[in-house]
Amino acid sequence: MRIILLALLLISPNLAHANTPGVERLETIVMAQVATVVPAVPVAAPSIELDKTIVKQGQVIIAKFTEQKHKPVIYFTDREFTSYKTGEKSYWTAIPVENLTKVGDYKLVAKAGDWSKEYTIKVIDNQKGVQHIHLADDKDDIVATQKELNAVGSGLHADSETKLWTGKFVYPNKAYKSSPFGVKRSYNNGPVDSYHKGLDFAAGTGSPITAPAAGKVVMVGFEKEGFAVHGNSVILDHGHGITSIYMHLHTVDVKIGDVLKVGDKIGTVGHTGISTGPHLHWGVYAHGISTDPEQFVGSGFGL
Ligand SMILES: [Zn+2]
Repeated sequence: MRIILLALLLISPNLAHANTPGVERLETIVMAQVATVVPAVPVAAPSIELDKTIVKQGQVIIAKFTEQKHKPVIYFTDREFTSYKTGEKSYWTAIPVENLTKVGDYKLVAKAGDWSKEYTIKVIDNQKGVQHIHLADDKDDIVATQKELNAVGSGLHADSETKLWTGKFVYPNKAYKSSPFGVKRSYNNGPVDSYHKGLDFAAGTGSPITAPAAGKVVMVGFEKEGFAVHGNSVILDHGHGITSIYMHLHTVDVKIGDVLKVGDKIGTVGHTGISTGPHLHWGVYAHGISTDPEQFVGSGFGL
């Protein structure tokens, strides 16, 4: 208000005389100026920001929320996804687009208290193709035990409010990548109803496997204790709905409850469980749904 008054005085110095009729006019002008300034002060409104609305099968959409009084929830592809606190009124979450989601437009709805926002998400083909796999008779008979399904299922659905990692993931093994995530599969001429849920590294037996990002060990399974398909395996909970799995290990160097830093040793490569030869299968999951690990290596999502 003082600045406006000074500016007006500079333009019309004659208005500064208290005894002149101009003073009344000056006050009116100043009040008018103040009236327009007050509403211009920004009012904090709840908002959402998506990193993309066109997304490939197997990728995640990053949602960031600001000025939210309530914890936002996202509804997408008949699923409900929670969000995680990153500040006093800010939240985020990684929304997975399941790899077998059909190409097309989908509604995404975000809600927090009375606030809501709707988007149309375009899911596009990941162009990974279909692989026809013929399993040998002896391997065809191997099915996962209930014990391993329960342990792996609950480990991959870890839902911790504490985010343990920062920035980009790194590869857990140095060998060349022999099979990418997302290749759709048909077994023994059956329907295309599965896909490769991780990234394979063609390392030899004994090659070290290290944590791609900080995380807590929430599952350790052994072939000799009923992990017939996964073999010796480990799951890390990175927090905020992000988990990762390491399968077919030769040795396991961690136990449940261990908190690992990026680069800490998890175990060594092997070919336990259903595996045609020594390799590491690495999967990264968001809210229990497998997603392409490459996107976590390629981007820290600004977190
Ligand atoms: Zn694999």
